[in-house]
Amino acid sequence: MAENFDAVVVGGGIAGASLAYAMGKAGARVLVLEADTEFKDRVRGEVLCPWGTADAQVLGIMEVLQQADACALPWLNQYMGPQQIARRDFLATTPANTPIMTFYHPKCRRPFCKPPRRPARKCGAA
Ligand SMILES: Cc1cc2nc3c(=O)[nH]c(=O)nc-3n(C[C@H](O)[C@H](O)[C@H](O)COP(=O)(O)OP(=O)(O)OC[C@H]3O[C@@H](n4cnc5c(N)ncnc54)[C@H](O)[C@@H]3O)c2cc1C
Repeated sequence: MAENFDAVVVGGGIAGASLAYAMGKAGARVLVLEADTEFKDRVRGEVLCPWGTADAQVLGIMEVLQQADACALPWLNQYMGPQQIARRDFLATTPANTPIMTFYHPKCRRPFCKPPRRPARKCGAA
């Protein structure tokens, strides 16, 4: 049976899935076409910088990061061997007063999407 969508997003990575989720929350019917049937760990750092956290808040996807057990890091200490050489308080020194968020990349993408339907994943329009 044919279905109609307002938007089709090709690629359900963190960018495509975030966009689809935000559009779905705003009422759009969105289809995400993802080539992989399983979200793979692509070893991509798992750190969302404070300005990315601010964008995530604006996009309304913080709830998804929380479902993926994301942790907020409000500050960072840097060491050279045993010697602490720097400390940054992100809440006090970033424009939006936001922390770094850390999360496991594949786990973060999972809550964005419903189970696969044939080769495609339909996301966001829940
Ligand atoms: C080693 C490394 C470390 C990194 N560390 C960080 C970090 O700490 N913090 C940070 O913010 N960023 C980091 N990045 C960058 C970050 O991973 C990328 O910016 C981000 O993953 C890009 O997201 P994306 O959704 O655009 O692309 P991708 O995550 O690459 O997702 C694209 C998706 O599209 C799918 N796809 C591709 N072609 C098709 C097609 N024709 N049809 C259907 N589906 C398709 C793919 O299967 C994939 O799932 C790192 C990157 C690398 C390589």
